[in-house]
Amino acid sequence: MLRKVSGGCLCKKIQYKALGEPKWVSVCHCRMCQKAYGNTSAIFAAFSKGQLQFTSGLPKYFQSSDIAKRGFCIDCGSPIVFSYKSLDAVFVGTLDDPENWQPNGVHLGIESKIPWDVIHDKLPQYRTEEDPEFIAASSSDNTVIK
Ligand SMILES: [Zn+2]
Ligand SMILES: [Zn+2]
Repeated sequence: MLRKVSGGCLCKKIQYKALGEPKWVSVCHCRMCQKAYGNTSAIFAAFSKGQLQFTSGLPKYFQSSDIAKRGFCIDCGSPIVFSYKSLDAVFVGTLDDPENWQPNGVHLGIESKIPWDVIHDKLPQYRTEEDPEFIAASSSDNTVIK
């Protein structure tokens, strides 16, 4: 059975729905996600860019590196979306029903993991430079998808 997927920011100005279920849900421990989320890690559900539709408002984007941008709500500050320029994927962590989407992908950015933030699952762990999506997004041979 297909489960409805939706999400949005704290003040509810920005809301989205997904056409389909997340491709996977992963956890990123990199320093940039720690700063952007104000936490020890960030949980991301992955969708194709065309799968995620904003139904209310739009995020403001911060270009966090040459290859990636992060969208957030300008009113309440909630981090909404992360995407690489050259990958057909968007990552969101503000789902309305996160209890339905337990991480089933990988742990990323493991080089910056806070030692007391103990991982209790058996999902694969990658350093940022070993992350297949980061490698694909960093490759200059890659076709840019807007
Ligand atoms: Zn908001
Ligand atoms: Zn990260």
